[in-house]
Amino acid sequence: MNNRELIDKAAAEHKLSKEQLVSILSDISTDDYLFQTADKVRQKYVGDEVHLRGLIEFSNICKCNCKYCGLRKDNHYVTRYRMDIEEIIRLASDAKEYGYKTIVLQSGEDSFFTKEKMREIISELKQMDFAITLSLGEKTYEEYKAYKEAGADRYLLRIETTDKNLYQKLHPGMSFENRIQCLKNLKELGFETGTGCLVGLPEQTIDSLAEDILFFKKLDADMIGLGPFIPSYGTPLEKETGGTLIMSLKVMALTRLLLPDINIPATTAMETLSPNGRITALQSGANVVMPNVTDDEHKKNYAIYPGKAGLNNTPEEYRKTITAKITAIGRKISQGYGFHIRQEIDPL
Ligand code: SAH
Ligand code: SF4
Repeated sequence: MNNRELIDKAAAEHKLSKEQLVSILSDISTDDYLFQTADKVRQKYVGDEVHLRGLIEFSNICKCNCKYCGLRKDNHYVTRYRMDIEEIIRLASDAKEYGYKTIVLQSGEDSFFTKEKMREIISELKQMDFAITLSLGEKTYEEYKAYKEAGADRYLLRIETTDKNLYQKLHPGMSFENRIQCLKNLKELGFETGTGCLVGLPEQTIDSLAEDILFFKKLDADMIGLGPFIPSYGTPLEKETGGTLIMSLKVMALTRLLLPDINIPATTAMETLSPNGRITALQSGANVVMPNVTDDEHKKNYAIYPGKAGLNNTPEEYRKTITAKITAIGRKISQGYGFHIRQEIDPL
């Protein structure tokens, strides 16, 4: 079978072997066909609605030292902050006015936010009738359980790379096994569980990207967020080349073929590499956008990587711009919470 036929087969059966994934990822001649096919599969399984999630980056304090990340503990160029609960609630109220139905709370691994503090924040947001997604890194089973009981619905924890050796090199003091265990715990506790990877990490191979996609399928993820690795100042990887938009889109499009009914965001890192990156992603398999509703002062210090898209927009402006762009490509803004609805998986 040639790669075009393989793409057709994946659109119909939602299965590909590692070798087949590698073959498609290595071929630039079928990129457009892959994106168009992923777009069709997206339309068939999750429709034309785009779910917007309001993102609050409530603390940039992190005890980890992930080598690629601008917020790593040893990066002393970062001005650190943490919001208090009132501030988080105020940003969420604004998000409510812009019409967001989901709040994504994201932070570094900040031990200040204990189980009790998180429970309080989650309960307050729940009373405001939001669906709640958390992205706080690795926590204990008991902590995840407390978040769930307080009303959190979803959790994002990227595996970053399934190449165990590379994972260990990039995450000093952390363990690949614990990462996997965290994802299993989240699933067991009933979270809609999201994972994903960085594309273009140093020493990452096409083979390992294919493994990443198969891992998403094996985990039976509800959401997959992925994007290019963008070298960040003040990190050990600041002089590396970084990933490309096109390879990130390919990994994303193949993920849509294999997991046709899940939620896939068009990520900020994609928009950072190209002014139209998000819309291109929405036309290549994505169905979610996570606009930043963090205030300007804090947003500029949440510098995971440089040049983060959306830094020059207020949340209100961004909401208008993204709505116009989404409507212009014939898609609709969803009025619902945008949960993962499992579908009968049948051929196109
Ligand atoms: N501390 C939490 C959430 C914040 S980091 C956690 O690690 O899960 C959120 C994501 O940012 C990470 O999963 C990682 O994939 C991404 N990220 C970190 N550094 C990056 C970089 N230099 N380029 C692109 N994405 C990056
Ligand atoms: Fe901390 Fe997350 Fe950055 Fe790692 S990726 S240093 S856990 S903020």
